Amino acid sequence: MLFQMQENVGIIILTFNALQKWHVTYLKLAMPHCPNCQSTKIKKNGKKACGKQNYLCKNCFRQFIGDHALTYKGCHSGLIHRILLMLVRGIGIRDISVIQEVSVCKVLSVLVNSHYVLTPRKFHYETLEVDEFWTYVGNKGKKYGLLYAYECQGGEIVAYVWGKRDLKTAKRLREKFIKLGVSFGCICTDDWQSFITIFKEDNHVVGKSHTVGIEGNNCRLRHRIRRAFRKTSCFSKKLFNHLKAFRLAFFYINYGYV
Ligand SMILES: [Zn+2]
Repeated sequence: MLFQMQENVGIIILTFNALQKWHVTYLKLAMPHCPNCQSTKIKKNGKKACGKQNYLCKNCFRQFIGDHALTYKGCHSGLIHRILLMLVRGIGIRDISVIQEVSVCKVLSVLVNSHYVLTPRKFHYETLEVDEFWTYVGNKGKKYGLLYAYECQGGEIVAYVWGKRDLKTAKRLREKFIKLGVSFGCICTDDWQSFITIFKEDNHVVGKSHTVGIEGNNCRLRHRIRRAFRKTSCFSKKLFNHLKAFRLAFFYINYGYV
């Protein structure tokens, strides 16, 4: 029998013993822990006006009521990490809201307030693959393009730019390499004219057979980011949220955590 008291979560086991009497065993499952430093060195510190037990962390002196006693689940200490992880594993905003029993606004605020910076892991890359990736913002008729460079060996997204499918955007991607201080041995693209024009001075390899790695990554992006799923009605309503969702997924692909 699982029950939840005001301060502890535990199990009550009822057994019928040899003396024909019920024997009650109480097993404590989880002690509240500090939401700030995750320490379990805590002590009781009076009660709140609403009657809930208040705790004090002996380590960082943060006062809190345990996660189990929260009225609104949106304040749970492990929730933000779980939401971020679900966002980069192909689960949509509304699905997360239902699964975690929080509002859609809470999920969106976690996405909007995520600050991840992508920095290249190396200064020189032997081979870089460049390709474009179509997404939708506003409605399914409005396309918004992503141009990015990918290193197949390390599985890393090195640089990316957003914009229309034109020479200007391709130019911005090349400028991004200079801005990031990244050099490359050879660059592989498909036979789009803008790529041929922009990378004519570099060691440029043209052909679909050389961009197999990045095509595979495009497939991964379409599985990992809900708003990029194909043949669905999913799309981003807001450009700002769109850019945030992609940056979060790129960070997860590059570093393996969020
Ligand atoms: Zn603490």
